[in-house]
Formats: sequence, C-alpha cells, structure tokens
Amino acid sequence: MRQVVILGSTGSIGVSTLSVLAAHPQDYKVLALTAATQTKKLLQQCLEFKPRYAAMLDNNAAKMLAAELKHAGSHTEVLSGIEALCQLAAHPDADMVMAAIVGSAGLLPTLAAVEQGKTVLLANKEALVMSGELFISKVKQHGATLLPIDSEHNAIFQCLPANLQLNTHAQTLQDFGINKLLLTGSGGPFLCKALTEFSQITPEQAVAHPNWSMGHKISVDSATMMNKGLEFIEARWLFNCQADDIEVVIHPQSIIHSMVQYSDGSVLAQLGQPDMRTPIAHALAFPKRIASPVAPLNFKQMRDFTFTEPEPERYPNLYLAMSACAAGQGATTALNAANEVAVAAFLAKQIRFTDIARINSNSLEHFAGFQVAALDDILALDQDARQYAQLQLRKCV
Ligand code: NAD
Ligand code: MG
Repeated sequence: MRQVVILGSTGSIGVSTLSVLAAHPQDYKVLALTAATQTKKLLQQCLEFKPRYAAMLDNNAAKMLAAELKHAGSHTEVLSGIEALCQLAAHPDADMVMAAIVGSAGLLPTLAAVEQGKTVLLANKEALVMSGELFISKVKQHGATLLPIDSEHNAIFQCLPANLQLNTHAQTLQDFGINKLLLTGSGGPFLCKALTEFSQITPEQAVAHPNWSMGHKISVDSATMMNKGLEFIEARWLFNCQADDIEVVIHPQSIIHSMVQYSDGSVLAQLGQPDMRTPIAHALAFPKRIASPVAPLNFKQMRDFTFTEPEPERYPNLYLAMSACAAGQGATTALNAANEVAVAAFLAKQIRFTDIARINSNSLEHFAGFQVAALDDILALDQDARQYAQLQLRKCV
C-alpha cells in the first residue's frame, strides 16, 4: 500500500489523479490532499478518500473546512498555509507526492518533497521553468525520483531506454544514440484562425481547448503555445539536454504525445487518448503498469495524423520561451513570472490576447541578462518580474 500526497487535489490534474487512485484502493492510500481556496470541493474529496490530512493555503477556508469535516464526523486533520503544504509534501509517511499546484506557487512544496528524497510525480512544469538547475541539483543531492506527468514528457520518458529513464542526469541522450526529442502539440484552438482576428479573442474562446480539458491557466498557455514553450524548457531540464536537442511539432489530433528520434533513423512514439489519467497511471505504477479508466485507442476509427511546423507569427510566445531557454535561468524565471501575470490579466479581461506576447517579450528583454542560481535569488527575480509585468499591464489599457 503506497501513501500518496496530492498537492492541488481540487484542480484538473488532482481530480484525474483521484480518479485513477479510486480504481486501485488496494494499492494506494491518500495520505493528504491540499488546495488553495476551494473548500467545498476539498470537503467532498476528504469525505470520499478519508485522507489523514487536508491543507488549504487560505486560513479562513481551512477553518471552514475543519468545521464542516468535524460536523460530518471525519477524522481528517486540517492544516493551513504554505508551511503546511510543505510539511505534508515532506511527510515521513508519504511515498509519492503528486505536484499538481498551478504556477510558481507549486515550487516550494514540490522542493520540500524533493528534499526528502520522495518520488515526485511532476505536473507543475512552472517549478522547473523557474528553477530548473537548482531543482535538478536537489533531485540528485537528495536521491529523489522524478516522474514526469506532463503528457509529452511522460511520452518521451516511456520512449527512452530503461537504463536512461531514471538516470538522465548522469548520462546524455547522445550516449544512447538519441538525436532529438520531438515535442508534439495540438496548436490549440487558434491553429487555423485568421491572425487579424487574434486581438479580439476572448478568455472563453481561449480556454476551450479542442482536445484536452484542463485548468484555465494552462488552457490559455496552450492557446498561445506558451505551454509548449514551458514544456520545451521543462524537457531541457528533465532530460539533461540542450535547446538544439528538442524540436516542436504540431500534431492537431493529440494522439501522439511526443517522440524520440534515434541515430539509426528509428522514431519511437507514445500514443494514447488525450486524457491525463494515462500518464498519471503510468507514473503511479512505474515501473509496473496498472489499469486506468481511459478508453483504449480504436485504430479502425482513427482519423488522419497530420504534422506541421508552428508559425512564429501565430505563436510568438513559443519562440520567446525557446530563446529564454537558450539564454539561461534568469530569462526563464522572468518569462514564467511575466506570463503568469499576463495570463491572469487576460482571464480577468484586463488585457487583450495579443498583449500576452507583448508583456512577455518586454519582460524577457528587460531581464534576459540576469543570472540566478540560489533559491532566494530566484524568488526575488520572480517577484521583480511580476512587478515589471504589472507595470506593463497599465500600458495595455
Ligand atoms: P488547476 O487550475 O485546475 O488546479 C490547480 C490546483 O492548484 C488547485 O487544486 C488549486 O487549489 C491549487 N492552487 C492554485 N493556486 C495555489 C496556491 N497559490 N497555493 C496552493 N495551491 C494552489 O490546474 P491544472 O490544470 O490541474 O494544472 C496543474 C499543474 O499541472 C499546472 O502546472 C499545469 O501546467 C500542469 N499540467 C496540467 C495538465 C492538465 O491537463 N490540466 C497537463 C499537464 C500539466
Ligand atoms: Mg503537456
């Protein structure tokens, strides 16, 4: 029986994780669930999965949750604040930690799990984008096991030789005859939209992804393809490679989740439904396999598979992220922070869709030369870049 902590259990990945765990009650026990503010949803999850702990970022929400749980006769202990999230991520009884908080807020709890040498199931790509070098050095130092949840990285992981899968940091892809990681992306909802209409795109249109159902922030990132840019940086750190080793390919059907190209001309791909419960089940059971509630692919009904190159004018954010990746840690930290501010402002209808790239580009230009290594410097740069992006918002009005 393996004990699992889910950071961000009320989100899209959190709910998908609970759905896989519910199918395997003999093998996994939920030790702790955490959320920011969604009391009702966390209450319902606590009553169903009976975790030993629940934690909320918000103190008042935690008080409400504790009162409701007591009233329902539950024994779940309720904690609150960022320290509580970190404590639970590092809990001695936790075998696995699902890192599924969205954005930079996930960094500290995820690092807390890494520092205890846990098996970390990493969905929170922003943590690696913000602090890749530091994060990976801590994984090595504390002997943590990092299993990618992001469907592309999970696909690449599955296509790597077994000797390399958990040992990417001691060896290079070239040692195993790997020429390229081919990161696939659907192109999002605006793959065929006229560029002249981009400034009129609404948040409702941007979050309506054609293939995947996800949280709002990542859905907007998918529409701008900043998501693929963040994934490019994530792949650079997860698989110990450089920007030149990674190529982005648009595959609108979202059936091939990514590929690995070998020097002999072979390309290995992982295919499946666009449903996060497949990579989640893979990582939960690794190196074994367990059933997930996902329907198998039916090749008799499969449509054509198509592939194109992402157009720079359509997806400027992708190219900003790729150049930040080449520029270094300061650039990726600043770009991630600016993007979080810009996406939140777009969702709040304060700026236009096309302003996201403008804010990101200005911020990247401003902070590109910054070099950061220590955690405090990374957190300080994150704050500075947020403030800078906030100032840019005013210029968009
Ligand atoms: P979501 O918005 O649906 O859920 C986010 C979760 O994080 C919620 O439980 C929320 O309560 C919690 N949270 C938000 N802000 C917080 C804060 N400040 N402190 C503590 N907790 C906080 O997001 P999601 O779509 O589930 O994505 C989660 C992460 O997984 C993101 O980093 C995303 O990029 C990554 N990811 C998601 C998908 C997907 O299909 N949804 C796929 C790949 C990767
Ligand atoms: Mg992905």
